[in-house]
Amino acid sequence: MNLPEKKKELIEHLKEMGYLKTPETIGAFEQIPRENFMPKEYRQYAYADEPIPIGFGQTISAPHMVAVMTELLELKKTDSVLEVGAGSGYQAAILSKLVKIVFTVEFVKELARYAKENLRKTGVKNVEIIHGDGSRGYPKKAPFDKIIVTCGCPEIPKPLVEQLKIGGKIAIPVGGCYQQELILGIKTKAGLKTERHGGCVFVPLRK
Ligand code: SAH
Repeated sequence: MNLPEKKKELIEHLKEMGYLKTPETIGAFEQIPRENFMPKEYRQYAYADEPIPIGFGQTISAPHMVAVMTELLELKKTDSVLEVGAGSGYQAAILSKLVKIVFTVEFVKELARYAKENLRKTGVKNVEIIHGDGSRGYPKKAPFDKIIVTCGCPEIPKPLVEQLKIGGKIAIPVGGCYQQELILGIKTKAGLKTERHGGCVFVPLRK
């Protein structure tokens, strides 16, 4: 099977499993070439539903996890989104097709550069990459409609809740170094309401 065939098969699988739901998210998966966001030697595995190493001990998340988090946020074309953990830039590229603008903060300088290059060659223009500690959010562009965190956090960082609009949503893996629970938080005037969305495994947040 060639890559386009494998891609089609993966998208069908993600739909059947209920990870991909809306035509918009399915469209974003169809448009973004995941092979652009990984080292050459792994490209043949671009459409396996697996995380893939991108260097510096980090990974690009498995496609089903990207699908689940993207769907949970119920994104709108007018949304301004903050991502914590740009990694390869793949999740940001998927988001870019569904919202107005994405700000993504990456702790590792080389990865921030890598994500920037991957997004450039994919032709994505509405993503801004910031090198820094994403647990502090990005006050310069706050408040955000949605926030997505793609590294495991011991708890939800306060600055992220503060930088979320009322009615805004945050998807974040919360727990230990080796396993977390995917939490969806909805900010209300009374505080953050949270829902649990099952177990997940992300690389830990760094400080
Ligand atoms: N969303 C990425 C996958 C991210 S892997 C993708 O689509 O490829 C998690 C990323 O979070 C890693 O790149 C790691 O360097 C980054 N990270 C860890 N701690 C961080 C922090 N405090 N601030 C910003 N990024 C962080």
